[in-house]
Amino acid sequence: MLTHVGTRPDLTGEQAPDANAGRETGFMCSDTTVPVLVIEDEPPLARIVRDYLIGAGYDVTQTHNGSDGLRAARELDPDLVVLDLGLPGLDGVEVCREIRTFSDCYIIMLTARSDEIDKLLGLGVGADDYLTKPFSPRELLDRTQAALRRPRVSKLATDSRATAWHFQGLTIDTATREVVLHEAPVSLIRTEFDILATIAACPRRVYSRRHIIDAVWGAGWGGDEHIVDVHVAHLRRKLGADPLLSRYVDTVRGVGYRFVAEPVREPGR
Ligand code: CA
Repeated sequence: MLTHVGTRPDLTGEQAPDANAGRETGFMCSDTTVPVLVIEDEPPLARIVRDYLIGAGYDVTQTHNGSDGLRAARELDPDLVVLDLGLPGLDGVEVCREIRTFSDCYIIMLTARSDEIDKLLGLGVGADDYLTKPFSPRELLDRTQAALRRPRVSKLATDSRATAWHFQGLTIDTATREVVLHEAPVSLIRTEFDILATIAACPRRVYSRRHIIDAVWGAGWGGDEHIVDVHVAHLRRKLGADPLLSRYVDTVRGVGYRFVAEPVREPGR
């Protein structure tokens, strides 16, 4: 069952009807109505998540299993999906992989145990962020707001060659968010692209994990810094399928990462 639970509720005094909500303050109302899809099969948790996101002004649609969620993702083209890992029918991993075949929406995956996150990161399922239950609804809202400050590929203009950065064998276009490695497009999830764009903006400069998190997830993000390492690992794999090619992302032990290629003139100019 697909439930569209509405948008832009009257915020004048109406609080989320949840015991935890009483401790949270400062609902934010967004300027535009952003479509968000929540795929969660536990009714109490689904209700809390929904109420918080509606309270923040998002246009929330809710489904309670993976196949309905997948259909809703195709129909609604949400900007963000809150996706439970453990779902009846299609599980969260399958839903996430499917969504990634047609959408660059931001995906926050909910897991029951923190050790599941490492496994999921290792599988490279394509989620951008992870939250372990139980979590504070405020934390989810913070991550949601941080995510939605980041642009989506499909919603950006494509006529912006001047924003492309050229390196030996690699082009990074920060407007179209396209990456080309030796004339072949590289398919990066948004988080991978944002990390690459952050460190490639200033080659050879060393960036700490904290700096990368502040730049990519936003300064208020409270997740584990380890997530940077895992996204960098995927990024490297995608940039270095051919072992003969130079490595673009260097580990600076105990500190963080740096981008190591030198800029070149745009080919053909
Ligand atoms: Ca579940």
